This record gives sequence, structure tokens and C-alpha cells, in this order.
Amino acid sequence: MATTVQAPHPFPTDRGLAPYAADPLHTRGRRYPEIPSTTRSEFQRDRDRIVHSTAFRRLEYKTQVFINHEGDLFRTRLTHSLEVAQIARSIARSLGLNEDLIEAISLAHDLGHTPFGHAGQDALNLAMKAYGGFEHNLQSLRVVDELEERYGAHDGLNLCFETREGILKHCSLHHARQLGEVGQRFIERQQPSLEAQVANLADEIAYNNHDIDDGLRSGLLEFDQLMEFELFSAHAREALRLYPDLPQRRLINETIRRMINTLVVDLTDTTRANIQHIAPDHIDAVRLAPALASFSEGMLPHAQQLKRFLTTNLYRHYKVQRMTTKAGRIVRELFDAFMESPHLLPPDHYARATPQPARAIADYIAGMTDRYAIREHRRLFDINES
Ligand code: MG
Repeated sequence: MATTVQAPHPFPTDRGLAPYAADPLHTRGRRYPEIPSTTRSEFQRDRDRIVHSTAFRRLEYKTQVFINHEGDLFRTRLTHSLEVAQIARSIARSLGLNEDLIEAISLAHDLGHTPFGHAGQDALNLAMKAYGGFEHNLQSLRVVDELEERYGAHDGLNLCFETREGILKHCSLHHARQLGEVGQRFIERQQPSLEAQVANLADEIAYNNHDIDDGLRSGLLEFDQLMEFELFSAHAREALRLYPDLPQRRLINETIRRMINTLVVDLTDTTRANIQHIAPDHIDAVRLAPALASFSEGMLPHAQQLKRFLTTNLYRHYKVQRMTTKAGRIVRELFDAFMESPHLLPPDHYARATPQPARAIADYIAGMTDRYAIREHRRLFDINES
């Protein structure tokens, strides 16, 4: 018989939660109080609301690195978010964290991204400079708090504090002061839940590895280039030792899955050791402690080296640059056209555009998928389109 005594708990999936995990029975609550569900925990409900949101479906047609129409096999924001959720949930289960919460955070973390990835974000941020700027992370929170229109009683999805806290990964002090409770930790320099911390690093593991994969698939990165990079070459050599005649595509897959596993195990073990060292007995103790989720000191240089490699060789590749320059131009020209004539906005967006149209225009553009933005640009600038 079990010797530990647990509080009565109606949701079987939350049994076995560590004391430092987020507990849906003790959430800090929603902005608009709601009657609890009899069949789902509060964090399950959040996850479900995110999956059913309009912004989530749009992720399918938003760029990660490659523009959506460049190829059918490249990651999009949607498949990226699913990979983040998979990695984050594995780690959560192993550490006794709340899987529903970490899944909700992972699936929502990129909801505020503009079309065309970072090129779109940079262009929109520049265009919005005089109006408070544009930051995709803050926009993700804005999407779930304000922009989703699914309820009669309120704007947004009315998610729990813990989910919103996890979505808001970073934030300037200026913005933090305007955000109320969810911005408070940036002012007090505290950490978010472990679920939020782990989801953030799972994001990093996912994009570093899938960008290598997509980079190789696109031909912009070459296998031999990656062999100069230690974390990759060690695993590639191991795969070749076991399977000397492996065709290159399979060799790449074997290598990348080993890299992901190495990073996940390193993150899990290091985080577990940090937790044991600090021994937080409650989620609030996690918030007051230094960041507990981390890679080991031995792994950090590899992760940084990988990031630098991808920046130099993939994100700044001239072919990627050409596409991102065009994409940035589209975003800028859309913004300028709507600022000059806000009545060109579709009526529901125009209705939000007074007295100052900039934020409503940024919301409209940020919500666009890649192909919608391209089409909208044509509709505004090509006399033959309507
Ligand atoms: Mg991401």
C-alpha cells in the first residue's frame, strides 16, 4: 500500500504530480471566474481552448524559417509547436510536472507570430516603433487575452494565470507594468513555473534540431558543414559505426534523433538535480528560486555553438535573406497602406481602428498567414486583383 497521503483528486492524470508542479486545483485562477468542469482539469480546459482557437489553426500556414509555399516537408509554426509540446511533455512526465499545463503553454507559445517568421516580426516592430513596438511573445498573450472571439461573456480565451504566465516568456519592464499580475514577475525578477521554464527550453531543442533538418533538406546546409560541429558529428559517427552503409537521408534522421535525445536527457537530468538541490515544496518556491530548468554546463557551449552555426549558415544564407527581405517589404507596405487609409481595413478590424489605428493594423497583419499576407498585398497593390 502507498504510504503517501494525497488530497482527494478528481482527475486521474494529475495523480503523481510533484509538490513543485502546477496543481489545477490551486490555480491562481482566470480573469473572469468560471464554474469548474466536472470532467476536465483547469489546465486541460486551457489546452483544449487553445487547440480550438482560430490563431492555432493559422499556425499551419505560418513560416518557421522557410516560407510556407517553399516546400511541403518543411516545418511550419504548427508542426514546430507540436514538436515543442512532445518534447516538453516527455520531460514533464519524467519530472512529475503538469503535462496538461506544459502542453497548453507549448501549443500557445507561438500564437502571436506574424506571417514570414522573424522577418515579419522585425518589419512590424519597426513599423510600430512610434506606437509601442511589436513583440511576438507579447502578442501571443494578447491573442489569448484579447483577440480570440469565441465567448459571449468576454474577449479572449480566459485562460488560467499559469498558462498566461508560461506564454509570456519575456517582457520589457515598460510592458510588464501595464500587464498587471502576469507582468509582476519581470518587475520582481522572479521565475515562472517549472512547466513554463521547461517549455521554453523544449522550444530551443525543437527549433535548433528541426532547423538543421530543414536546412539540410533544402540544400542550404550541407552535411559536411555540419560534420565540423561536434554535437552533430559525434552522433553521425556513432550512427555510421552501427550502420556503415546508411543512405544520407536516414543518416541525418538517425543523427538528429540522437541529438534531440541527448539534449532532452541532459536537460531532464540537470533540472532534476537542480530541483533536488533547492528542494522546492510548492510552485511558489519555484518562482522564488533561481531558474531550475537548464542544460548542464558541459552542454551549454554545444547549444550556443549550434545556434551560432544556424545563424551564420542558415538564417543569414543569401537565399533565405532574399525571401525574408521580400517578406519584410510586404509587411511594411501593408502597414503603411492601412495607416495611410484605415478604411481599407476589413470592417471588423476598422471598427477597432479608432482613435489610433496602429495597434488594430498590427493585430490584423500579425494574424495573417503567409499566403493571406501575399494575397492581401496583391489585392492592395495590383490593379488587376480585387
Ligand atoms: Mg517556438
